[in-house]
Amino acid sequence: MKRWAYPLRMCHLVAEAMAARIERSKKLFRWKFFRGDFHSHTQHSDGIGTIAETAEMVKIAKLDFQFVTDHWGITQAPECRKHGLWVGQEPGTQLHHLGILGLRRAYAPQMDFLADCAELQRLGATWFVPHPTGWWPTRIYPKEAWKILEKLPSPFLMEVCNGASNVINAFDFTDASARILWDGLLRKGRKVHALGNTDAHAPHSIGIVWNGVFASRCAERDVLAAIRAGRSFLSDGPLLQTTLGRAGMGMDASAADRQNGLRITAVDSEGLRSIRVIADGRLLMEFDARNRPFWERRVALPRRVRAYVRVEATASDARRAYSNPIYLR
Ligand SMILES: [Zn+2]
Ligand SMILES: [Zn+2]
Repeated sequence: MKRWAYPLRMCHLVAEAMAARIERSKKLFRWKFFRGDFHSHTQHSDGIGTIAETAEMVKIAKLDFQFVTDHWGITQAPECRKHGLWVGQEPGTQLHHLGILGLRRAYAPQMDFLADCAELQRLGATWFVPHPTGWWPTRIYPKEAWKILEKLPSPFLMEVCNGASNVINAFDFTDASARILWDGLLRKGRKVHALGNTDAHAPHSIGIVWNGVFASRCAERDVLAAIRAGRSFLSDGPLLQTTLGRAGMGMDASAADRQNGLRITAVDSEGLRSIRVIADGRLLMEFDARNRPFWERRVALPRRVRAYVRVEATASDARRAYSNPIYLR
């Protein structure tokens, strides 16, 4: 093996170990979900990897799907189709980049963020706001970029974890600020469904964070419909499900649903450290999961909670999962 092939081999080993860990976790988890990433780059824009190298890593990480979202159009499409990868795009617009999925042609932005989002909506695309506070460690967005998101019609999709420039762990300080931004928007009554994507610019980091999507089949149309409805959790380790009465993630809960309490199921075959319930921007409850691989509980939701509730599970090695919010009416 060439000396410089070795780092990629190490990343293969990490991805293989994570895939095995998740396979073991799945045996303890009652729900079917598909595991995948909505954001990555190749040599068709500023990534260093080829489509074939991306596809190889997707296979090693045992992901069910991977979108390749190059910056400058969709020239990657024919090769992606050959390798079973899905195609998106990520052009820049005013203040933000735009993650665009499910659109069969290249989108040319008007460089007006709100107008571009409205146009993508009109075109029937599934779009998301990538790295909403900037990307680690080189770019911190101005507060203006935070502020404009308040003007988006809800619900919309936003990356709460972005793995750009990371190789092994996706979570970093821009993701900590994205989480603050997310809770701020949710507290104001906006519906913001979260995604966790690698934004891989090298095949090395494919699989370091992913989304568990509750769709009935692993077809692009079904997966996109599920994330538009908020039926997914993001994770770099644990599996997570939460319901409030009949309302699942991404749904509106009624007063009757609240009576039933919040039901939480978290799984990690490597052991769970803690389960946190966040409501209206605050930590509402925290449970010590005592390194157990399976944790399940029903908890009462206090009457004072008004806007939303969501759950975070942290594994014994600090890897984590965020549920999408359940919105309160
Ligand atoms: Zn970007
Ligand atoms: Zn990107």
